Order: sequence, then C-alpha cells, then structure tokens
Amino acid sequence: MDYNILKSAFQELGLANNSVIVHASLRPFGYIQNGADALLQALCESVEGVIVPTFTYRTMITPEVGPANNGISYGDDEYYNREARPFTLEMPADSMMGILPETLRNHPLAKRTSHPILSFAGIGADHYLEVQTLQEPFAPIGALAEEDGWVMLINVDHTVNTSIHCAERLAGRRTFLRWALLKDRVMECTNFPGDSSGFNAIAKYIQTDTRHVDLEEAFIQAVPLKKLFEVVQELIKKNPLALLCHRTDCERCNAVRNVS
Ligand SMILES: [Zn+2]
Repeated sequence: MDYNILKSAFQELGLANNSVIVHASLRPFGYIQNGADALLQALCESVEGVIVPTFTYRTMITPEVGPANNGISYGDDEYYNREARPFTLEMPADSMMGILPETLRNHPLAKRTSHPILSFAGIGADHYLEVQTLQEPFAPIGALAEEDGWVMLINVDHTVNTSIHCAERLAGRRTFLRWALLKDRVMECTNFPGDSSGFNAIAKYIQTDTRHVDLEEAFIQAVPLKKLFEVVQELIKKNPLALLCHRTDCERCNAVRNVS
C-alpha cells in the first residue's frame, strides 16, 4: 500500500469539493509506505478540509454524587479519578481512536479545539472547528453537515461514527453531564453523548447513499452528513429507542430508555 493507491481510492469517492470528518483504523491496509503521514497527505489532497476527533477521555473524573439518571455510577471510579490527567492543548488524542487523529494533530497546518474531553483537530477546516463550545461539543459536525460535509469511515463501522451523536442531539435525545480535570479545577461538560455500540443498525437505512471503495482487505466508505442526520432523526422520531445497544448493563442506553 502506498500514497498513490490511497490517493486514487480517496479520489474515487468523488469528494474533492467537500469537507469530511474521518474515523480510521489503518491496520487492514497492512504496510503503508511512509505510514499514516502518507495516508493523511493522500486524504488532504482528495477533499476540501478534514476534521478528526482528538478525544481525551483520560481527563474525566467521576464525582461521589451527582444528578440522577445520568448514565453513570457515582463514587465507583476512585482508580480512574486518580489516573485522570488535566487537559492541555498538547495532550495526545486517546490511542483507542487510532493513529490518524494524532498524525493529523501533529501536522504543522492542523488546528485543535479546546474541549477538555471532546476536542477536534482539523486541516483546512478552521471555520468548522471554531463553532465548538463547551455546551455544544459536536457543533463542528453540525456546521460540516450544513456545508455538504461527509463522514468517511476507513476500515471502521458506524459504532465509531461520532456524527450520529450530533444527529441524536438534533432529534432531542437526552445527553449526559460529565466532568473533566483542568490544571486548576474540575469542569462540568454538558451534552456528553450516549453510547454508540448500537449504531451499526443505521447501515441498512443509508446503504444507497453510501459510497464504498474496496482495497483488498481494506475499505473506505463515505456518507453525506445531511442524509445521515435526516435518517437518524426519522428513526428516533418513529422509535425513541432506535440505535440503542442491547447490553442490559449499558448505563447510558438504559438512562435513555428510562425517560422514553
Ligand atoms: Zn448501550
């Protein structure tokens, strides 16, 4: 796998005049000559602007007590509270998001937002990043949707498709309160999203709008955000429990069920 193959795959998606939010696992590509840097370059040359989540869950703190029905067990997280680290703009994105967010964040042209848990980084996408607030962490995705942005999923499925959270919020689905450690205090973060492990249920409803490129063992798929938002909102309107997971011990999905 190399830059040229990746670039023609990205170009096949036909998104030269669109900006994208990208989620990726690079492992199925096997060896990539010049690694994630080559992929990022091929990507940036094939679309208008790129944003990626650079989330930092390791800043999170769980208090002893808090509001009810908040999809959380209070007082249980002593270990994680002790391990929590204060957010700084230089804090790396969590490794569970793969290598691409960190590669992009470290690019000389990249900008990053300052939300202590749900930050985004972008290249050529400043005006999307700028609209994020502490209250509306997914506003950059909303702005992207308004300008015909797409979500690109590279070897990953909809369980990591953060944009669906943005659509859930538009559909009026409940959100949660969380807490993040800063250098000098703990910050309340409103509108923290629910659980995403049931999100693959969306796939069949957006199949005809999804563009797909196969590369041996690997694949890239892309979905227009406007359409994705429309479909998610319709599904939740018809069934307030749509896209929730089926784990009986899922605190956030259960909290959504409790108020539906
Ligand atoms: Zn769940």
